[in-house]
Amino acid sequence: MSFNATVLTLYPEMFPGPLGASLAGKALSRGDWSLNARQIRDHATDKHRSVDDTPAGGGAGMVLRPDILAQAIDAASPADDPRPRLLMSPRGRPLDQARVRDLAAGPGAVIVCGRFEGVDQRVIDSRGLQEVSIGDYILSGGEIAAMVLLDAVVRLLPGVMGNAESGATESFETGLLEHPHYTRPREFEGLPIPEVLTSGDHARIEAWRQAEAERLTRDRRPDLWEAHCAANSANAAKNT
Ligand code: SAH
Repeated sequence: MSFNATVLTLYPEMFPGPLGASLAGKALSRGDWSLNARQIRDHATDKHRSVDDTPAGGGAGMVLRPDILAQAIDAASPADDPRPRLLMSPRGRPLDQARVRDLAAGPGAVIVCGRFEGVDQRVIDSRGLQEVSIGDYILSGGEIAAMVLLDAVVRLLPGVMGNAESGATESFETGLLEHPHYTRPREFEGLPIPEVLTSGDHARIEAWRQAEAERLTRDRRPDLWEAHCAANSANAAKNT
């Protein structure tokens, strides 16, 4: 069973875009996942093919109409579609690696890309759209956000990443940021590779990497560090 993505957008020509290159692109050509980008505007009913209207209550910008978006969703995803329906939205739950992992383990996703000021609330409610944010900033549309989500999911699909182990130690997978990396040449602009990494002593290397991961997390992401410490002391308490 492969991961099946349907994207509803006013700009289907943006897809696959960057998802057609590199790992995700190769996986797409192999059929490890599929991508169907559909034009919301095909469901417009008036002769101008309009999809948006002015906000009820007044104010700036335009809002995507619920009737047209509902039509587009229903045409792309029958009521018994097992795939979650997502709406890219700055108001959504922030995307994290746990959510990405859940999605990658499932049958796929139907992803709605907003534009303008956003989407009429009634279609969000009636079609059970789960709002997903990719961060605390505002994009001009949901398409790039959808690509971010799909890129993160696709690299976890079986067979997509050559080296499965590199996935397991990645930042966030362990609750810590990843340790720094080095490669040849052995000396770069007078800077050597840390001695421990060329020592061949695997236990020391492992200890160094763990200490560096902890140091970086503590310095850069106090939020992650606190969660990591809390999880560790909960485990310790359980084991005594
Ligand atoms: N007026 C809205 C922002 C609309 S931006 C607000 O203040 O909340 C237009 C569209 O871009 C949104 O409907 C959404 O689909 C997408 N978008 C913008 N920022 C995003 C983010 N951080 N994460 C996910 N989608 C985003």
